[in-house]
Amino acid sequence: MRIGIPHMGNLYIPLKALFNRLNVDYVIPPLTNQRTLSLGVKYSPEGLCVPFKLTLGNLIEIAELGADTLIMPGGYGTCRLGYYAKTQEQILHDLGYNIKMIQLGVSEQKFLGLLKIIKRLANNASWPKIISAFRFGLRKLNVIDRIERVVQKVRPVELVKGTANQIFTKALDAIDKADDYRTLKKVETDYLDQLNQVAKDPEARPLIVGITGEFYVVLEPFSNFDVESELGKLGVEVRRTTFISEWTKFSMFLNPLGINEKDRIHKAALPYLKRDIGGDGWESIGEKVLHNNEYDGLVHLAPFTCMPEIIAQNIMPKTRENIPVLTIICDEQITKTGVLTRLEAFVDLLERKRRAGNHNRQRVAV
Ligand code: SF4
Repeated sequence: MRIGIPHMGNLYIPLKALFNRLNVDYVIPPLTNQRTLSLGVKYSPEGLCVPFKLTLGNLIEIAELGADTLIMPGGYGTCRLGYYAKTQEQILHDLGYNIKMIQLGVSEQKFLGLLKIIKRLANNASWPKIISAFRFGLRKLNVIDRIERVVQKVRPVELVKGTANQIFTKALDAIDKADDYRTLKKVETDYLDQLNQVAKDPEARPLIVGITGEFYVVLEPFSNFDVESELGKLGVEVRRTTFISEWTKFSMFLNPLGINEKDRIHKAALPYLKRDIGGDGWESIGEKVLHNNEYDGLVHLAPFTCMPEIIAQNIMPKTRENIPVLTIICDEQITKTGVLTRLEAFVDLLERKRRAGNHNRQRVAV
């Protein structure tokens, strides 16, 4: 059995660590790119969202590399994610690939369900071995996200644009290669040091922009035109609450104990939307309300045809909390140049708003 799983951001690094430690035969497809998108678009039913198209493209590339068992994350809920695996399996069969699809229903199966699937994939490895491999993968995930949080802070203030991104790319490579906890710790310390030592503009006062929207497009840079790096280049500090390590911590360990990280955000969205609408639509509204006094603006990432985010997009302008929101529709029809122009205009608007605010404060003080 040779397995493979679609990409979502840097998740492939902890997964590799997990599979290596359990001697699972696997393939990692090329990082999501233009060919992945073209394949996905070519074979997807018309009107499906970009997460479907890109994961289908990844699955085709995995099958091309000889995998016979494909793992596709899924879940219950109001949106069509629950149908992805079945539809994609059918498309791959129609294309002539003799593959078996395993749906990873993480949200309903929680930690134990996930471990059982891993046990099956790892040829019935012992539980201590599985838990140890899982812990090491999680550790890598935490290190990646810790370093990325610092990268988000350095990008807008670095003197030589692109330095933080270069360090992050090297850090990802080193984390991928680290084979034990000691090396991993050293990698973390080294790269955090390097980021701290990047030459920064002491005068910079970056605008703070939150990133919210559908889970996959928030976490997969190819699907969102690398919006975080682009905002960083424009001198904006990005804040994002969605990280895979956080999601893993809650959905696998804390949610089964009744602790829900989303309660706060749902409560914030309640005056405008009373119920879950599937995907992350409820959370997108909550993010705007919750961070109204903390962010200068919000970038809302919404896949084209994604019903939950379309609802959120329509509710957001009507909230009392009035930070500016820029909704970016993610789809193969949208060009990066168009997105960059809109980001520049948005940042310009936020800067003017900040200047006007300072000006008014000075007048009140006078
Ligand atoms: S939330 Fe939207 S983009 Fe995500 S799977 Fe559901 S419909 Fe597609």
